[in-house]
Amino acid sequence: MSSLTRHLVAAIVAATLLFPPHVSPSPARLALVSEIRHWTSREYTRVVIDLEGEARYEANFLGADPVRNLPPRIFIDIQGADLRDEIVRHPREVHNGLLTRVRAGRFRAGVVRVVIDLERESGYRVFDLSDPSRIIVDIDGGSPGTGQGSPIPEPSGKIVVMLDPGHGGKDPGATGPTGLKEKDVVLTIGRMVREKLSRFPDFEVGMTRDTDVFIPLEERTAIANKAGADIFVSLHINASRDRKARGISTYVLSRASDREALELAARENGVTVQKLSEVKFIIDDLSTYGRKKESLKLAKTVNDAIVRNISSRHGPVHDLGLKQAPFYVLVGARMTAVLVETSFISNRSEESRLRSQEYLETIADSVVEAIRYYGENGALARAGM
Ligand SMILES: [Zn+2]
Repeated sequence: MSSLTRHLVAAIVAATLLFPPHVSPSPARLALVSEIRHWTSREYTRVVIDLEGEARYEANFLGADPVRNLPPRIFIDIQGADLRDEIVRHPREVHNGLLTRVRAGRFRAGVVRVVIDLERESGYRVFDLSDPSRIIVDIDGGSPGTGQGSPIPEPSGKIVVMLDPGHGGKDPGATGPTGLKEKDVVLTIGRMVREKLSRFPDFEVGMTRDTDVFIPLEERTAIANKAGADIFVSLHINASRDRKARGISTYVLSRASDREALELAARENGVTVQKLSEVKFIIDDLSTYGRKKESLKLAKTVNDAIVRNISSRHGPVHDLGLKQAPFYVLVGARMTAVLVETSFISNRSEESRLRSQEYLETIADSVVEAIRYYGENGALARAGM
């Protein structure tokens, strides 16, 4: 292993921790590895190992072994687990220049080993999400020399924007007092933003979903990474047990800036606050992987634009400002990434605003304005990024 690679592996190697130590799965009830999924592009692969039940795991890296003719590989041992035979029989073939395949088997009784055969040594990180349990491996072939951790997409001449309307399908998100659903509102806003932003030739706009369909959080990030997006904007509507709560806030990935932010992220992640508190130690590491400074800049620009335009077109609005929280959908994003919580659907008067097409147009106009300002003022600094 070259010293550069060793450094890279040491720097990027993930937490091999998983489920907290006090979770000891009963030996009688093995967690089943039910599926292995992946998304891939030339410089990036995300592998997701789906588990039915919780288990401990450990991830390790092995350099190439020329004597035994073995490639460099990442292996993950999952304790107290079994797997479907179909997965043993059919390794996932990838062959994208980063890795050849993902294979799995019963390493010994009660231990499943998942092996990722690499085509070349690359940075990688491993983390886990819960409810449902899954282990995620991001393999990054992007330019390690920049020290940025953020790879440079192919220069297409366009700024690629990935819009992510939250929730969808079986997941309605938050619901208002008169039944308005977050998933429908954010889809409408997303379509409006795409329509408006696509008029500008500098921008290429994609959406993680443009129908009422459920997409797991880790897949949304993978879609943006795979597309080589420069900007990722996840669209949400806030909610609170306190029916008086109202206002606009915009988030970047980090530890929670306050209790409300933690509770919000837990709800958006579909996990308990307790579960989310247990994983926060990996978030500092993961958030530095993305473009945090750039994300803060964009988040402030988006938030200011929404607040300014709503107050001039629709009347007073509460500015909750720029915040930070461990949103799963932002974890592993390789680009400038923000999450907007635009109004409270749980607040009667804000829910009624969200039913108005003009109000949603205002939000969409503001997101477009902010992305254009950010993109065109060199904040993206394509030349030097
Ligand atoms: Zn949401």
